[in-house]
Amino acid sequence: MTARKITPGRRTGKPKFRDRQPPQPRNNLCQSPAKPWLAFKSYRRTLMADAMHEVAIMEEAVRTAVATAQASGASRILELRLRVGSLSGVVPEALQFAFDVVCRGTLAEGAALVVDTVPATGWCPDCQAEYACAHYFSECPHCQNFNGQLRQGRELEISSVEIS
Ligand SMILES: [Zn+2]
Repeated sequence: MTARKITPGRRTGKPKFRDRQPPQPRNNLCQSPAKPWLAFKSYRRTLMADAMHEVAIMEEAVRTAVATAQASGASRILELRLRVGSLSGVVPEALQFAFDVVCRGTLAEGAALVVDTVPATGWCPDCQAEYACAHYFSECPHCQNFNGQLRQGRELEISSVEIS
């Protein structure tokens, strides 16, 4: 039997975009400043595609905050504070990115975004006890039952708007 060498590239065909190596500098002159910018650009593009869900959520939050601020006669929003459950399906980093985009040209431009994460907690009716949930269907750590109720962890709400 002859030995066969299998490389990931050969076996899976064309390498996927994420498997590609970042471009290497061709000489010593252009090592740092230009190349990391390329890496940043592609990172940002991926984040933007993934963040559409968060952009829609943030549009709604900023619209509500601006309406509240205007009703109070405010000229600016200084800080927007959100409560985000750990099982809400929202990525906090993407929220920050979405916030920066959505705030442009509104009362909230330049405002700080504070995201308070709410840990998911289940309630087991058999044990009459609360427990931490990593998923929607987390078992009770005491009796291993799955019939607990999720008490918190799905929040997606504004907790405060600081205005001036
Ligand atoms: Zn239990």
